[in-house]
Amino acid sequence: MKRYRIATIPGDGIGKEVVPAGRQALEVLAARGSEFRFEFEDFDWGGDYYRRHGSMMPADGLEALKGKDAILFGSAGDPHIPDHITLWGLRLKICQGLDQYANVRPARILPGIDAPLKRCGPADLNWVIVRENTEGEYSGAGGRVHQGFPIEVATDLSVMTRAGTERIQRYAFRLAQSRPRKLLTVVTKSNAQRHAMVMWDEIAQEVAKDFPDVAWDKEMVDAMTARMVNRPASLDTIVATNLHADILSDLAAALAGSLGIGPTANIHPERVYPSMFEPIHGSAFDIMGKGIANPVGTFWTVVMMLEHLDEADAARRVMAAIEHATANPKLHTRDLGGSATTADVTEAVCAHIAAAKSPLAAA
Ligand code: ATP
Repeated sequence: MKRYRIATIPGDGIGKEVVPAGRQALEVLAARGSEFRFEFEDFDWGGDYYRRHGSMMPADGLEALKGKDAILFGSAGDPHIPDHITLWGLRLKICQGLDQYANVRPARILPGIDAPLKRCGPADLNWVIVRENTEGEYSGAGGRVHQGFPIEVATDLSVMTRAGTERIQRYAFRLAQSRPRKLLTVVTKSNAQRHAMVMWDEIAQEVAKDFPDVAWDKEMVDAMTARMVNRPASLDTIVATNLHADILSDLAAALAGSLGIGPTANIHPERVYPSMFEPIHGSAFDIMGKGIANPVGTFWTVVMMLEHLDEADAARRVMAAIEHATANPKLHTRDLGGSATTADVTEAVCAHIAAAKSPLAAA
């Protein structure tokens, strides 16, 4: 019997509501005669921890995560703590500290979801965005001098390394190769940013030679926003820098129907360190504690986690339960125009997982 050690970090806001829902789905899955079990350890890091200890997580927190097989994360954000502290103190600290350099965000229109684009069916929007997750515009390099004086200077330095660029592009080409269309779009801005982004383009050209079966093209990030809206079917796998993909993936989530649906995986492909899985939405304080947060983003996150653990059958089972739920308008939460609660959707998804024929029972 395999045992997966899972760290759960609900974090802030609705993270505290959707992470337990995700954990519940995993527990139901494991109870259904699966060949694996989960050992959960919960970490209470985030805004409340910051108020008690002056930091978002303990100094040796990364060490506690290193022994895990995966991390299920909720969100970090608190109305009373500056965003750069919550972000850098928890999520980015883990992503950089565990070298999770590939941020992977699938976007597609699930059954029953009313997506905003006219003339765009589910078959036209089925993307995976690969975001460089450890350097680039969010490298953290920079600083402020002469603070408060008229001569104050502030810099955020975008740092792009050959090694960092090559590994993310190689990851994206490999992912594109594994998908039916074998199609990759490399997002750039090498017309205006004439150093790092030119290197980015050159490396794409070099890496492409190792993937002759992948069709690829280049798109400027500004033109990319229009292409996502006007010609969604021309895209499949997309790779972009940290900042560019951050923006494009929010657009992708909105075009797929709601911020409450999409998942993200922060992957350390070499598997020396655990990877971290989280819904794309933030802490959504406006709906916190009301029991109306959409847990679908977290369930899809669980699917990505199971895929990463090489539990493909289990992942498919959870995805089928998600699609069964989204197809039913009575199970739509407020963000999708419905009135279902987090508990309603969780119950339905868990019941579908539990009812599915278990591989062991079939054997
Ligand atoms: P943060 O600062 O942590 O990123 P935020 O509140 O600025 O958080 P999001 O959490 O991404 O941003 O949410 C934006 C809006 O989308 C929220 O006001 C919320 O109403 C809605 N929303 C986001 N996620 C969900 C969800 N899972 N279920 C329902 N509504 C959601």
